[in-house]
Formats: sequence, C-alpha cells, structure tokens
Amino acid sequence: MSKYDDMKLIRDEVMALKESPLYAYRVQRHYFPVLGEGSHNASIMFIGEAPGRNEAETGRPFCGVAGKLLDALLSSINLPRDKVYITNILKDRPPENRDPLPSEIELYGPFLDQQIEVIKPRVIATLGRFSYSYIMKHFDVALFIGPINQAHGKVFEAKASYGTLHIVPLYHPAAAIYNQHLKETLFEDFKVLKQFM
Ligand code: URA
Repeated sequence: MSKYDDMKLIRDEVMALKESPLYAYRVQRHYFPVLGEGSHNASIMFIGEAPGRNEAETGRPFCGVAGKLLDALLSSINLPRDKVYITNILKDRPPENRDPLPSEIELYGPFLDQQIEVIKPRVIATLGRFSYSYIMKHFDVALFIGPINQAHGKVFEAKASYGTLHIVPLYHPAAAIYNQHLKETLFEDFKVLKQFM
C-alpha cells in the first residue's frame, strides 16, 4: 500500500470517529477534521496542538494567525511549507480553543502515531507544550523532560521504529503572536532545523 493509501485509511477512521467527544461539535458546526498537510516524504514533521476555528472551517492545519507566523518562520530558513508535513495531536477543534483534555489526547494520539509511522520523519518539531510532552513520552525520552522553557531549541535524539529520530521542541507560534521576546526566540530556535534540511 502506498503512503497515500495509508494516510487515507487514517483519515477515514478519524472522519468516522463518533466516540470522540468532539465529533458532535464537528458535525453541528459543519467543521472538518484536520488530518495534516504537506509532503508524505517529509524529513521534518511539525506537530501542533489542535485545530482552531480557521483550521476546522477549512480542514487545513495552521491556516489562521498562528499559521501566518509559522509560514514566516519557515520562510526565514528557506524551508518551503510543501516540503514538510504539518499536523496536530487532536484532529478536531475543541470548543472555544480550550486546551486538549488528557482523554482527547489519548483518543487522538494513536492517529498521530500512525501518521509518524507512515511519514517516517527524521525530525519532529513539536509546537507547544502539549505536543512536546506527548512526543517525549511516546518516544521514551521523557526522562529528559524539563519544562519547555528549558528544552526549546535543543535537539533530543530518540529511537523510532524506522531509525534515529531527532526531536526539536519549539514554542507554539500562537503564544508568540503578542509576545515579541518569544517571537524572537522562535525565529532563533528555527535555525536549529537548518542542519536537517
Ligand atoms: N494551533 C494549533 O495547534 N494547530 C493548528 O493547526 C492551528 C493553531
């Protein structure tokens, strides 16, 4: 089966995920699930938290204000958006953009795990503390886990089923929109990704 077929299976399962507490909200609002976007052969995968309103209305990750900043960050290191893969832990929008619940992370996490197995990235850049904590635990490097303000911009090595993986924790672009200091830090941290391009 091709990577495209594998991804389609994952999409079909999420589409039909009636047991999700976010499913009814999706249907009621005529929202789309947001599976992810980009190259299935990407060596760098970005993982955010959950779709916001713009994302749920369009089915595309990071297409609102935080997405504009992500685009600027990618441009700053000359990394075309279509060369990477961008997704989130949760594939459906939580009401009022509240934080994902542990039960929601547990429910949607396995879809993200499957996407990682399909794409087989060499680098996972986590955006924000939820994906940071999820990915560090998933790849068993949680021992190193300190708060994101210590780990951001560093490179952690992990073992994936398909070989060596590098994890780069980054701040969430949404947190940097109104925080100039965090924004500068994000631009600085993005340079770490250059070595993997
Ligand atoms: N914030 C996220 O974590 N993901 C998106 O796709 C958009 C905003």
